[in-house]
Amino acid sequence: MIANDQLAQWDRENFFHPSTHLAQFDRGEAPQRIITGGEGSHIIDRDGNRLLDGFAGLYCVNAGYGRKEITEAIAKQADELAYFHSYAGHGTEASITLSKMVMDRAPEGMARVYFGLGGSDANETNIKLVWYYNNIRGLPEKKKIISRWRGYHGSGLMSGSLTGLELFHKKFDLPLSNIVHTEAPFYYRRPEADMSEADFTAYLIRELEALIEREGPETIAAFIGEPVLGTGGIVPPPEGYWEGVQEVLARHDILMIADEVITGFGRLGSMFGSDHYGIKPDLITIAKGLTSAYAPLSGSIVGQRMWDVLCQGTDEHGVFGHGWTYSAHPIGAAAGVANLKLIDELGLVENATTVGAHLRRAMTEAVGDHVNVGEVRGEGMLCAVELTSDRATRASFDPMGSVAPKVVAAMLKRGVIARAMPQADMLGFAPPLCLTTEEADHIAAVTAESLKEVL
Ligand code: PLP
Repeated sequence: MIANDQLAQWDRENFFHPSTHLAQFDRGEAPQRIITGGEGSHIIDRDGNRLLDGFAGLYCVNAGYGRKEITEAIAKQADELAYFHSYAGHGTEASITLSKMVMDRAPEGMARVYFGLGGSDANETNIKLVWYYNNIRGLPEKKKIISRWRGYHGSGLMSGSLTGLELFHKKFDLPLSNIVHTEAPFYYRRPEADMSEADFTAYLIRELEALIEREGPETIAAFIGEPVLGTGGIVPPPEGYWEGVQEVLARHDILMIADEVITGFGRLGSMFGSDHYGIKPDLITIAKGLTSAYAPLSGSIVGQRMWDVLCQGTDEHGVFGHGWTYSAHPIGAAAGVANLKLIDELGLVENATTVGAHLRRAMTEAVGDHVNVGEVRGEGMLCAVELTSDRATRASFDPMGSVAPKVVAAMLKRGVIARAMPQADMLGFAPPLCLTTEEADHIAAVTAESLKEVL
């Protein structure tokens, strides 16, 4: 076995880590952790620490760690056939079965699923589908995409442009043209303190409509949004939001893309966030929970009205020229089939509702009265604690977030992983859907102790 010190050195000298302060890491000032195993809601590191993962990796290990049902399916597939492509009508039993399982669970009105690798590439696919669709319809000017500030849709050129967090744009020359951002549906950060939730929703809808009018509805192709804002702060929408948005989109012939990379396959306590909030999307982005991250796999679920036009397009122009080498990779597909079965068998969608509600209750009891906690919010197995320097004015400690990381570090010392959400002082929780009520209580208790230590 390679010694820990040696690995740490190789890590610093060779490994370009994503979303990392590169210079600090190089200088050995940033934390390094080598993970060796996992079981249920816990991971184990090389120093033998057992950590309760309150973020399921990156909101993705929904079924929990160490699931033999999934790893055995992966091993069997790798043994039988590790790879073949899915171009021009090729498939495997796993990829075809998974497409059937996804479509059986998808919201009404969806027609087909296209498989990719991760959430970012699935959103790149979605935008190409939208542009192709409007070109085939003879509307070549209708190309702009509306996204929201604080939305997160990935780190590619297009998906990073859709993302509405400055951190992902700054010095990368993003966003690309054709992307416009509208207000985040974030009630805690409403522009006027005395706005009711209904007033705030009406304000957001007015702002959306004003943006569409300014840009010209004939130039706007689609709107993209996460049913619950994820990386931008774990923010459930204000009452009536999705109804209002969809009414405006329908009036202007604008497609709806539901980015369900986090919310797909049970995290909100419903199979899809679209069903949870009555969203009728034209496209749905899926990834993370599709395989519980046991293997990389994503997808774009395409609605019927788009599918009909895509088919018309290939009749008129030939083969649809878009494909990834690893689309519908057999190992990812086998992981997906086993994972979706397991989610059903273990009742994890229901568990997300009950234990998720328990987690928010326990968190509210544990930290809700703290002088620096603005609110505890969430939906299903998602929870956020908003930190504030002044509860009355709801002021931020630091718009880029410098307090939450200290709380997260204090929690880690106590064996619990939480996430300091980017560009904000918020603590985020998105545990595996198999979390128990005892584990939820423990997360809340450790949050309270750690908050007390830091603030
Ligand atoms: N969309 C949403 C809502 C996400 O949360 C993420 C990742 O966190 C992505 C897209 C990008 O997915 P990936 O990191 O797999 O490319």
